Amino acid sequence: MESKKFILQEKDIPTAWYNVMAGMPVKPRPMLDPVTKKPLTAEDLFPLFSEEAARQELNVTDEWIEIPDEVREMYRIWRPTPLVRAAGLEKALGTKAHIYFKNESVSPVGSHKLNSAIAQAYYCKKQGVTNITTETGAGQWGAALSMAAKHFGLELAVYMVKVSYHQKPYRRSIMQTYGAEVIASPSMSTKAGRKIITENPNYQGSLGTAISEAVELAMSTPNCKYVLGSVLNHVALHQTVIGLEAEKQMQMAGEYPDVVIGCFGGGSNFSGICFPFMRHNFAGDTDTRFIAAEPASCPKLTRGVFEYDFGDEAGYTPMIPMYTLGHNFAPANTHAGGLRYHGAGSVVSQLREEGRIDAVDIPQVETFQAATLFARAEGIIPAPESSHAIAAAIREAKKANEQGTAPVILFNLSGHGLIDMAAYDSYFAGDMQNYDVPQPEIDKNTDQLENIIR
Ligand SMILES: *Cc1c(COP(=O)(O)O)cnc(C)c1O
Repeated sequence: MESKKFILQEKDIPTAWYNVMAGMPVKPRPMLDPVTKKPLTAEDLFPLFSEEAARQELNVTDEWIEIPDEVREMYRIWRPTPLVRAAGLEKALGTKAHIYFKNESVSPVGSHKLNSAIAQAYYCKKQGVTNITTETGAGQWGAALSMAAKHFGLELAVYMVKVSYHQKPYRRSIMQTYGAEVIASPSMSTKAGRKIITENPNYQGSLGTAISEAVELAMSTPNCKYVLGSVLNHVALHQTVIGLEAEKQMQMAGEYPDVVIGCFGGGSNFSGICFPFMRHNFAGDTDTRFIAAEPASCPKLTRGVFEYDFGDEAGYTPMIPMYTLGHNFAPANTHAGGLRYHGAGSVVSQLREEGRIDAVDIPQVETFQAATLFARAEGIIPAPESSHAIAAAIREAKKANEQGTAPVILFNLSGHGLIDMAAYDSYFAGDMQNYDVPQPEIDKNTDQLENIIR
């Protein structure tokens, strides 16, 4: 009988993260100071982020960055995560393709986010920080950081995108269980929030707005740092434990992926599963395809422009070179809250520019069809975000069927959907919609960007 899953031991938890920037033939463009337009140094980032996170953000030389023992110790709560052969899904699809998924849903908070939350909380603690702030979309990042903050004795305030605050009350309860303070964003507690509420009282929030609020609080509170759950290079770095474990597990399975797929919000889980495999492409040893699966309602990699933009709506962050829909782009209220972000991180954007990664955008209804098929075939109810990766994997398998090929497909199951059942209810009730973005809506926002790259 063929193995269903491939299991590593605690001693196999990676001891170092893979820093893709060291291997990139062309380095990503630097972050810029919005006023002077000069490249930022790590020291410039110290007021906002922990010093170690700031250094990692700009480190383009060290290929491997050691994982602190305190972080590995916490990883042991749920890592290594299983690699699973999706034989049930293969059967349901009648495909000869071999489909594998890395199951990051087994973490205590149900997603991959804890991989970076723990590292970032640890670095804050180590330098004597007492308070941290962050944003959260669907609540997964907030939940992860709440657990990490409590472990390291930090006080945490979380700005949660308003639509999710109401749609996903249980994620709020999870954060409160770990002892965090949760505020619906936009809120009246910050200048950025007040401005948006005044202009648009019914605005249901976005990650961009929530980031503005969290950054503002961090900058105006003593001994407080801001912690970000995606987009930035150091977050992607921490997530490489996913791909590094998966690489060993694919070896156990005696296979190597032809295609690696991750769903795409700001890029952290996609980067985490892909970058360790990409280093073999850089070396010329492999020709693996990497596919980012994003929502059709928020298509930055497929329809955005490559330009410098802010990471947040209010324009508080440094300028980041990104595939972006413009920082004022307000994505539709879809159920994949974690993917409702206007831009892609600088590394992924550079790799996209060079044609080293592909991207697909997927309508919401197709993601729930994929999710339901996967749940019935594999038993795990996926997060709406992760369902984009599943849908992309299914497309690849169907294409292989038509072409009579049998590729090895690996995707990241970034989280489970057990706290997203209201979204499934909406799907079963037949009132789920697709949201296509009209081109003028994109142009309106991207036309406002300064031409620095173009
Ligand atoms: C946050 C989240 C995402 C999207 O964020 P990335 O940084 O793009 O990975 C995807 N899946 C799940 C389960 C999430 O919680």
